[in-house]
Amino acid sequence: MADEALLARLRAAVEQGFVAETAFLQQLVRFPSTRGNEGPLQDWVHRELATRGYQMDRFTIADVPLAAHEKASPMVEADPARSVQVVAAHRASAPTGRSLIMQGHIDVVPAGPEAMWTHPPYSGVVRDGWLYGRGAHDMKAGVAAMIFAMDAIRAAGLEPAADVYMQTVTEEESTGNGALATLLRGYRADAALIPEPTGHTITRCHTGTLWFRLRVRGVPVHVMVAQDGTNAILSAFHLVQALQAHTAKLNEAAKAHPWFGAVRDPIKFNPGIIRGGDWASSTPAWCEVDCRIGLLPGTDVAEAMAGVERCVAEAATGDAFLANNKPEIEFHGFRADGYVLEPGSEAEAVLAAAHSQVHGRPMEERRSTAVNDTRFYGLYFGIPALCYGPKGEGAHGFDERTSLADLKTCTLTIAAFIADWCGLRERG
Ligand SMILES: [Zn+2]
Repeated sequence: MADEALLARLRAAVEQGFVAETAFLQQLVRFPSTRGNEGPLQDWVHRELATRGYQMDRFTIADVPLAAHEKASPMVEADPARSVQVVAAHRASAPTGRSLIMQGHIDVVPAGPEAMWTHPPYSGVVRDGWLYGRGAHDMKAGVAAMIFAMDAIRAAGLEPAADVYMQTVTEEESTGNGALATLLRGYRADAALIPEPTGHTITRCHTGTLWFRLRVRGVPVHVMVAQDGTNAILSAFHLVQALQAHTAKLNEAAKAHPWFGAVRDPIKFNPGIIRGGDWASSTPAWCEVDCRIGLLPGTDVAEAMAGVERCVAEAATGDAFLANNKPEIEFHGFRADGYVLEPGSEAEAVLAAAHSQVHGRPMEERRSTAVNDTRFYGLYFGIPALCYGPKGEGAHGFDERTSLADLKTCTLTIAAFIADWCGLRERG
């Protein structure tokens, strides 16, 4: 644990930098960095971190042999050559401590109808201690926290005694390929910290995620003789209901899971986008539904895929039209495993100590029914990966916001974690 004098030094530095940190987060939020549009934000982050004197690396997913990796997910609607990753490295001379990767995703999900927001989604408005906007909570606050934790250490006249990599990545909300790209680029460390907005809890485990697109055909006729045609939208609805029943069965079985048994209905199924039909007075000839379903740690992605295929095939067999006009399934994004952070790692113990010191109470854990990037480090590259970060609300919803008081506490906790994990020395 950092001694009290060191913690006081870091606390003063975080305090002093907090106006700048808030302004930095506002800037991050003002970039509408939805999928495929992250470039300008990554360029800005690159400039900001280069100004601080870090060794910089800017590359795209097309620059690494991603497709060859078995855990890469397909990018059907995004261009790998436009998907920019940024890494800022603090390289310690004659390192004595343990190295660290801090990683945050800067892609955000679409804002939905702007009129439903109290403040425009990309304005970064601050009101009553909250900073509002799409991505303010998930997870640009975490990105600000990790960068300003390092700023605070340097402002206090110190520096980590080991290598520290700060990475901003894309694709977290759709494939995870941004995180994977940094690993394929060669970045490794003794631990990874991903400051997703966990409300100062450690993520003990998370479910995996599978994306798939259903394509259904119909026979278009004038509605006056609707009985002579078929309706692709209603057919798709029939399949969605079958998938809901499939999910209910999976959740029944999940009650026996060692990590998710106590979580009610941990497997979430969501039809998220629907397109179809051409005319209100024609029975629709086509319908597509983009879906997402979860899977438990320990379930193979291939097994989850087979489950979806079986379910859709069975539902189609029971339908006079679909039996002869098979629906298509395309797995067009996430093929993400679930992950368990096994208790007892040294990295977690150090984070827990930093948390207790700053918060004055023990660190609690959460079990998440959504995926995050830790699986890549923990499952495939043997790097203990901690998902822990600030507090806010409204992820993927309207009026998403992060609590500024909690952002400050989180920044200090991360600085204290770096102090203990990497060690600090006076800046030469
Ligand atoms: Zn996130």
